[in-house]
Amino acid sequence: MRLSSKKFLDYFTNPHSTEEMPVIDRHVMKKKKFYLYKKGVVLCLITIIQRKCDKIVMKKQENDEQMEKKFAIVKNGAKMEEKAKDTMGGGRMQYEGQICRAPMERGSYMLPVAVGCSYNACKFCTLFKHLQYRELPIAQIEEELQRVKGLNGRPRRVFLGDGNAFGMKTERLLKILKLVREYFPDVAEVNMDATVTNIQEKSDVELKKLWEAGVRHLYLGIESGLPDVLEWMHKDHTLEEAYTAIDRIKRAGMIYDAHIMTGVAGRGRGTENAEKTAEFLNVTRPRHVINFSMFLHQEAPLYRDIEQGNFLPADELENLLEEKCLLEHLQVDGLKYDGFHDFVQFRVRGTFPEDREKMLRKVEEAIEKNKKEKPVFAVI
Ligand code: SF4
Repeated sequence: MRLSSKKFLDYFTNPHSTEEMPVIDRHVMKKKKFYLYKKGVVLCLITIIQRKCDKIVMKKQENDEQMEKKFAIVKNGAKMEEKAKDTMGGGRMQYEGQICRAPMERGSYMLPVAVGCSYNACKFCTLFKHLQYRELPIAQIEEELQRVKGLNGRPRRVFLGDGNAFGMKTERLLKILKLVREYFPDVAEVNMDATVTNIQEKSDVELKKLWEAGVRHLYLGIESGLPDVLEWMHKDHTLEEAYTAIDRIKRAGMIYDAHIMTGVAGRGRGTENAEKTAEFLNVTRPRHVINFSMFLHQEAPLYRDIEQGNFLPADELENLLEEKCLLEHLQVDGLKYDGFHDFVQFRVRGTFPEDREKMLRKVEEAIEKNKKEKPVFAVI
């Protein structure tokens, strides 16, 4: 008796099978064995492929979660929650993207006035790459102010989001500042991020008007004191342009704060970058320096350069050595420094000159500790 493959399998695998015992000649047995072998191989292959796919999906999810966590807790210095809670003690504001602001703005009331960054071209930055830049309607901004007022909010400091709020037309900015004053007459200062180009696009008269309307701190992404690094990273300014723009906002009464990035010059150039960045900061004299230290996501255009061998990243140990050199060279009395290193979970902060030695000792300790570790790169 010859059985179909199904019945054949049933007979040998099912103890309750009602099939009669098959007559198995050698030829049939060979065929069945080959069939079972083929089936086994196919099942194995399917399982292997499925596991591989699962691993890829899980790795991507892990990367995304890690990125959000890093940006939220370490890089931004300010805490980000999935649905950002406002700082007025209740309620939720409408917010798109990742909240990114200097740690000293942590206690400010964050008022979103735009989504994304109008420049969005810096090679290392993925903060707003997924967002189409747009300005929020004035009505929506006013609704948010009403909401916070309704919660009895009485902010003293306001931070306008997002990426480069100072890039908006002066007329629109003045309208927003007027609204802020109407709702919250006690507001002492309105601060925001800016690029050098944003400043260049405004006349001295406009800068003065904005200061009169309440603008105080402008946080500029200076990143490096090396001209070739600025060009390579697609920053929107040269050092000369930055010198001029900073001088102009200061003359208008505004306070300039600098974001910089150790590691931005790549492997082997840490000392050179530290010296030149310190030189720039010693001349321009910011109130705050925030060192975000190079932190890269694989989606960043710079990551392609790393893959193609066009850019060699510095490891965290070199970044710490660079930071030490920077702290040794900074000569700005009253400057408040805050430096983060994401992957080695290290932060150093203090005021110059009184905290210089204390900060140096802390960095030296971190250097000694990291010398014993394997090289770590802040890439996720
Ligand atoms: S200007 Fe700032 S937010 Fe915009 S792309 Fe450059 S680093 Fe990112």
